[in-house]
Amino acid sequence: MPNPAKNPAWQHLDRDATRAAQGRRLHRYLRDCVLPFSLHYKNLFAEHGLAAGDIRTVDDLKKIPFTSKEDLLPTEDNPRRTLDFVLKPEPAALSRRPSVILRALLRGKARVRDELDREWRPVFMTSTTGRSTEPVPFLYTQHDIAHLGLGSGRIVEIGGVQREERMINMFPFAPHLAFWYMYYSGLDRNIFALATGGGKVMGTEGNLRAITKLKPQVLVSMPTFLYHVLQQAVEQKLRIEGLRILVLGGDKVPDGTRRKLGALCEQLGSPGVRIMATYGFTEAKFAWTECPIVPGTEPPGYHLYADQGIIEVIDPETGEPQPDGVGGEIVWTPLDQRGTVVLRYRTGDRIEKGITWDPCPCCGRRLPRLVGKISRVSDVHSLRFQKIKGTIVDFNELERALDDLPGLGAWQIELRKAHDDPLALDEINVHVTTTGDASAGHLDHAIRELLHAHFEVTPNKIVTHTAEEMRALQKVGVALKEQKVVDNRPSGSGPGREAGDVHRSTP
Ligand SMILES: [Zn+2]
Repeated sequence: MPNPAKNPAWQHLDRDATRAAQGRRLHRYLRDCVLPFSLHYKNLFAEHGLAAGDIRTVDDLKKIPFTSKEDLLPTEDNPRRTLDFVLKPEPAALSRRPSVILRALLRGKARVRDELDREWRPVFMTSTTGRSTEPVPFLYTQHDIAHLGLGSGRIVEIGGVQREERMINMFPFAPHLAFWYMYYSGLDRNIFALATGGGKVMGTEGNLRAITKLKPQVLVSMPTFLYHVLQQAVEQKLRIEGLRILVLGGDKVPDGTRRKLGALCEQLGSPGVRIMATYGFTEAKFAWTECPIVPGTEPPGYHLYADQGIIEVIDPETGEPQPDGVGGEIVWTPLDQRGTVVLRYRTGDRIEKGITWDPCPCCGRRLPRLVGKISRVSDVHSLRFQKIKGTIVDFNELERALDDLPGLGAWQIELRKAHDDPLALDEINVHVTTTGDASAGHLDHAIRELLHAHFEVTPNKIVTHTAEEMRALQKVGVALKEQKVVDNRPSGSGPGREAGDVHRSTP
């Protein structure tokens, strides 16, 4: 099987050539892999009078109805509905294929049977992290596992990571895409990588020990966890020299967060660190990356792997594909996957400036890029927009604004009811740590002004904490993910649910 990772030709094709190649690959993929072997898409295509022959170009994609999260959730009639999306070839159908017959003649039947088994049998899974809905499993065959390395290896390649460098992967150990994706990155590119399992497995202390012992050039982490680890290193007056690249995923990476992480690295003895933000999701089995940039530089956008899948940006209202450079909802279609396969999957995530095909200003690659801010929609849709004290607040925006506020270190928003009475008014409390030489009084004023001017919200309390208290509040090392928004209201959206979950599962 040709290995496109080692074939960089796609990085240099222009838009038309890329889309032409994508169209051919899409047609063959539907014809040979999806339609014969996916129960869901076999039925869906039949219902709409569609066949593989109708889909030969990227423009033809829009004939295929969207798939959404709801299509994957179990129903009473079909409690194992996600299995309808798993490609399940009939051995007899495969063995009749001329290419298979030829391979069997050349290499022997037993070996080809084993190869087909490795290509098609699911042996691995990751899942989404929905709290309000069942987690949705995505199954992988060996073919897909190889693609984890292919995709994450490209992150390492775009980062310009050298063979002799060392990486530490601090993504939380769980059956989630982020941890496993980056686990395979070092293996794919033959670069030393330690996966610590993140805070819950080793605590901030254990991760710091690993960093000081192994002296990595590359740290891979969720941004908030990395912030706490580096902050603790500063408190302990450690020296961490030689850090070159921070690969961030699993959450958005606002400019303010980039600046704070850069400043902490500098304090620790690693000036000029570069940051790579990644974007991915369970359903794609891929994550994509920006070029490494110094904090404060305009992010260049996420390089997509045009040979491995098609990302469309659609108008979320009409479902029509947007022209290049226009924002909208991100929709995913793979071109070479086995196991669980979704076509035209609506992520619910919004990309601000859509797709560009211009060469990347940093590296010159011609891969299409997703440009602008990405607003991730939750598995828990209700918490993206919350009515707080009678005002609708977009938490994506609120989080971004707080992350960008100078002088504010870590923070947590707490929603509660006065006196824990479900009928009482909402209260919003902001817990903060200061950074640099910002005073608590000054920060208090700045936060009130920001919340009032941009969100029409007046917080009840702003409480300043030490870094250690904040680590406890955010459950660093206890929860899989740091809790930046907690809902402690006794009724309605449910006690203790974290709005932090809006960022879904992925790296
Ligand atoms: Zn680039």
